[in-house]
Amino acid sequence: MHILVTNDDGVNAPGLLALAQEMRRLGEVSILAPDRNWSGGGHVKTLGRPLRVHTVTLADGSQAFASDGAPSDCVALATLGFFKKKVDLVVSGINPQPNLGHDVTYSGTVTAAMEAVIWGIPGLAFSLASEKDHLADLDYYPSARLARQITENVMEHGLAHGILLNVNFPYLPENAIKGMQITRQGLRVYRDRLDRRVDPRGRDYYWIGGDAPTGLPETGTDIGALAEGYVSITPLQLDLTAYGAMTGIEMWVEPASLAVEVA
Ligand code: MN
Repeated sequence: MHILVTNDDGVNAPGLLALAQEMRRLGEVSILAPDRNWSGGGHVKTLGRPLRVHTVTLADGSQAFASDGAPSDCVALATLGFFKKKVDLVVSGINPQPNLGHDVTYSGTVTAAMEAVIWGIPGLAFSLASEKDHLADLDYYPSARLARQITENVMEHGLAHGILLNVNFPYLPENAIKGMQITRQGLRVYRDRLDRRVDPRGRDYYWIGGDAPTGLPETGTDIGALAEGYVSITPLQLDLTAYGAMTGIEMWVEPASLAVEVA
């Protein structure tokens, strides 16, 4: 079992190291992650410039690879042949903040796992729901051990084709975590605010600022599970088609009448 470990916080992030160390107990681990922080960078395919990869030594002395691409580029590099050995499984994280509800398409952590399923490989994204403005070093090891348990189960039971798992851990001591829940995406409430400023040359520039998102802690959702002290496991698929909306559109989309107009 050849496991690729990546993340969106950069190859030197402590969450990646904790995850890689636990994954080594399950199989052969390769690490290829961005050389800088791509949090919120979304699902990226870098086509307009070359991708560079260099070796780095992590805090535990192990070797890793860093690229100047996005997390999803790192996964593509790995699955398209950067490593001689075929990658069997991709794990991404552990992100220090949760990835919930609509966060999933923004999240570099989750989109790395999305890239894995594009190449037919199971992808698992792991995030830790630390409190906002947490200043002390986060302890990633309780989450990393749970990530290993989940990964071990995926290795044993497999995942349906095209499915990735978005896993969020509550930031609680191990004995305070109540268990695991299979969840759906909850409703994130974004509180972004546009901050307009003026640069020294007199030109406007913008920051997307505001407060961190909150969410509705509805039972059965990822947000609800964390609020209740459970690990949230949300299976995701890349088919975003809104099947229920197709009939409403069919009423006014008439390919035949369009053809008449063109003629
Ligand atoms: Mn991140």
